[in-house]
Amino acid sequence: MTRHDTSRRPPQLAPAAADRPFPRVVVIGAGIGGILAGIRLRDRGITAFTILEKADSLGGTWRENTYPGVACDDPAHLYSYSFEPNPGWTHRFAGGPDILAYYRRTAEKYRITPHIRYGTRVTDLCWHGDHWQLRLHDGTSMDADVVISAVGRLHHPSIPAIPGLSTFAGPAFHSTAWPSTLDTDGKRVGVVGTGSSATQITAALAPTVGHLALFQRTPQWVMTVPNNPVPGWLRWALRHVPWASGAYYRHLSRATAKATRILTRGDRTGYNQRAQAGLDTISDPALKAKLTPDYGPGCKRMVNSPNFYQAVQRPAVNVVTSPIDHVDTSGVVTGDGRHHSLDVLVLATGFQAHAFLRPMTVTGQRGIALDDLWRHGYLTYRTVALPAMPNFFMINGPYTPASSGSVVPILEIDVDYVMQCLDRIRADRVALAPRYDASAHWVSQVRDRASRTIWVTGGCHSWYLDKDGVPVNNPATRAEFADELAAPRYSDFEITPLAAIARTRVQTHHRPAPIDIEARQ
Ligand SMILES: Cc1cc2nc3c(=O)[nH]c(=O)nc-3n(C[C@H](O)[C@H](O)[C@H](O)COP(=O)(O)OP(=O)(O)OC[C@H]3O[C@@H](n4cnc5c(N)ncnc54)[C@H](O)[C@@H]3O)c2cc1C
Repeated sequence: MTRHDTSRRPPQLAPAAADRPFPRVVVIGAGIGGILAGIRLRDRGITAFTILEKADSLGGTWRENTYPGVACDDPAHLYSYSFEPNPGWTHRFAGGPDILAYYRRTAEKYRITPHIRYGTRVTDLCWHGDHWQLRLHDGTSMDADVVISAVGRLHHPSIPAIPGLSTFAGPAFHSTAWPSTLDTDGKRVGVVGTGSSATQITAALAPTVGHLALFQRTPQWVMTVPNNPVPGWLRWALRHVPWASGAYYRHLSRATAKATRILTRGDRTGYNQRAQAGLDTISDPALKAKLTPDYGPGCKRMVNSPNFYQAVQRPAVNVVTSPIDHVDTSGVVTGDGRHHSLDVLVLATGFQAHAFLRPMTVTGQRGIALDDLWRHGYLTYRTVALPAMPNFFMINGPYTPASSGSVVPILEIDVDYVMQCLDRIRADRVALAPRYDASAHWVSQVRDRASRTIWVTGGCHSWYLDKDGVPVNNPATRAEFADELAAPRYSDFEITPLAAIARTRVQTHHRPAPIDIEARQ
């Protein structure tokens, strides 16, 4: 606790400030994280909040990804809020439309939708001494006492700079922009990429297209996990037996934690054998060689697919390993000089996974900008807070345990932690920001643990690592992460009464020296 924190006397507020509700909370983004933040705010009786969403409907990932075969690849029962089980999931992995419907339904049920302001993109955030000012895309602004960013991580498409791409005569688009009227039956389709989306698209289209060229830069390990229907007895129990949903959720959580531990620090023999067994179902040795990675399973995020290896063995599918040289009006030309004639070109090329808050700009205390904080790496405090950014929180931020199974339970941990901070902000009317040294220490610990995982030792490049090969992922299991974020350790925070800030209003604008995370352990 800092010296500012000793006073528990009610602060003396200017009349205007005393009259308005406190805290005014703004949540940015109406995906799974933003909706959850809204639910937890309402649980606390906080109704003075707005969720700003740039699109015209909620759902984030599941609004944007509508391509054929889109589905979660974690068990649907774990890809739901723990407090809102859905006994109606019909299969282990739910399809995108069903997931979107679940989150829409849940947002309605918990009366979150009236709080959402659609068509509103936040461009800048600036700390004004005792509150945040948010600038919006139309040049207007709004004030908030607390900001919760839930802008997502796999949100900004990564579009490769392929020469000639814009000259292609047919539809060419990123997998997040699938045209609703597109008919691919009998067509020649090119799919660029081999990650989860490319795998799902390939498996979905292979039976009906005329030809599918899968342009592969790096082969992936694909775990063949059957998408089994949820047995009738289980669906019945989840609906009618009061304790069944909770018990099943805990069972799935434990199984996922076990997988995470094996993947990041355990004996991987059985896991590797399972991955290899999937690959061994490919009968053509040349195709199998093309699809065999030169790194170990788990180095990149594992792709789970019930039927990818079946799909690529269909006569209509051709896995192209020669690198793309350029695109022309009628197709793709690869480095070996071959022209692949196409009607449709799909860029399943993933996301800018390290954008995090950007392109929003965030300017905190003493004019310190997010880019200053992140110049030498992603400095955060326990994924949710940033030094010099008081009363600002992130859901799904850097070092989120993205490989611990479904991210939904992780977002719940984030939000519960943020709500505890909010309770303190509300009760004591304070500005609360993590200390630099505490943040740097936490980041160093996570990086150290992550550097011993296969993500780093496995010799592959993946979105778990930043451009310098430093992990931005956290090897914690869900339970370990829950322990870390169980309760705020306020001695790690600078806590300043807002009344004191309002009295002094001392504003300086110096820019700090870049922060060296290693040096600040
Ligand atoms: C195809 C696909 C499948 C996936 N499957 C799984 C899975 O099986 N398991 C898993 O754990 N994860 C999966 N993920 C990851 C997925 O992104 C997360 O599970 C989850 O949807 C993240 O929710 P979110 O609320 O954090 O972010 P998002 O869903 O990305 O929502 C962010 C919201 O913020 C809005 N927004 C962004 N910037 C602004 C701004 N400046 N102003 C206003 N609004 C803004 C966006 O429009 C969006 O609605 C998948 C991702 C993809 C792309």
